Amino acid sequence: MIDIHTNIPLKNYTTMRLGGPARFMAEVRSLAELTELCATARAQQLKIVVLGGGSNMVANDEGFNGLVIRIRLPGFEIVNDDLNTTIIKVGAGESWDETVKKTVDMRLTGMEALSAIPGTVGASPVQNIGAYGQEVSETISSVEALDLTTNSLVVLTNEDCQFTYRSSIFRESAKGRYIITSVTFTLSKNTPQPPFYDAVQTYFDAHSVSLFTPQTVRDAVVAIRSEKLPDPAVLPNCGSFFKNAIVEDWRLNEIKTKYPAIPSYAMADGRFKIPSGWLIETVGLKGQSFHGMKVHDKNALVLINESAQSYADLAAARDVIIGKVRDTFQIVMEQEPLELADLAN
Ligand SMILES: Cc1cc2nc3c(=O)[nH]c(=O)nc-3n(C[C@H](O)[C@H](O)[C@H](O)COP(=O)(O)OP(=O)(O)OC[C@H]3O[C@@H](n4cnc5c(N)ncnc54)[C@H](O)[C@@H]3O)c2cc1C
Repeated sequence: MIDIHTNIPLKNYTTMRLGGPARFMAEVRSLAELTELCATARAQQLKIVVLGGGSNMVANDEGFNGLVIRIRLPGFEIVNDDLNTTIIKVGAGESWDETVKKTVDMRLTGMEALSAIPGTVGASPVQNIGAYGQEVSETISSVEALDLTTNSLVVLTNEDCQFTYRSSIFRESAKGRYIITSVTFTLSKNTPQPPFYDAVQTYFDAHSVSLFTPQTVRDAVVAIRSEKLPDPAVLPNCGSFFKNAIVEDWRLNEIKTKYPAIPSYAMADGRFKIPSGWLIETVGLKGQSFHGMKVHDKNALVLINESAQSYADLAAARDVIIGKVRDTFQIVMEQEPLELADLAN
């Protein structure tokens, strides 16, 4: 029998610590529980939203008039092991960072740069988590999910997931359709190879690290992140609140005439990625507090909930930042965390 709780404040389940009540909330620990719960919700015509660790979504003050399912599905299984690779299947409810740690302990390469990202394994494909030169789409071979349109289990290949920069089918055309139950990763037995992401290489140089293993990369990333990113358990936040901006080359050249120092990274499709943290810093908002929110003084992409009591405060602060960057650069930054209310299916 699954416990279904009523009127649960979403602020207790999102790392920004904001959001009104969920009408119903339940945790699932097995596929049987998940399918039963979804069938019941469907029969009652209740909308469903899936929640992992709540570190990449924000909930508004109205909350959610439906069922929030917290995914706690366990599992860590080696499904194949050969000379060069190990394939592992991990339950969607497992902690992402615990999973990275396990694979690093097994001396497997592929996830080490994604160390210390909060949240669950099931959420990792949703926005194709990425950091320090790695993206989870590089190691995902398939994703198993419950398709809410048919209430049946399906397997999606890497290609089916349509991974792009911080996005996938799960955030776009199939938003809310699939509940991910497990993810299968193919990891390499080769050691990580240079060139490393600048910050990682700088760390290696500063600490005279010349042995490149999954563990030395993980140690570097954990050390760098602990300097730059506030711990959500202490200072409520969602990590990067804005996606990096993506512009055409002509637009970049136009901005460069006034701001020659603008950093930019060429993308495979010919466009350029501009760090949104630089845009926010350049308009003078780094370290500033307004509407109960603070732009983190070590990383302008991160918004910290200092004293905001409502989602309305967060929205007001977000609009100040987006507006100032738009007025200065004619670039409209996109919010990275999803709005819980938009996810309902
Ligand atoms: C301090 C901090 C640092 C961060 N650093 C990074 C970073 O470096 N790189 C990065 O990419 N992200 C980063 N993030 C964002 C976040 O940690 C990731 O997006 C993470 O994958 C979210 O996991 P979660 O379990 O908390 O997801 P949630 O916030 O609970 O959910 C996020 C989305 O995934 C969906 N979802 C969750 N579980 C499932 C499931 N089983 N099936 C289907 N949909 C599901 C939800 O419905 C929602 O749409 C950071 C966040 C914080 C707070």
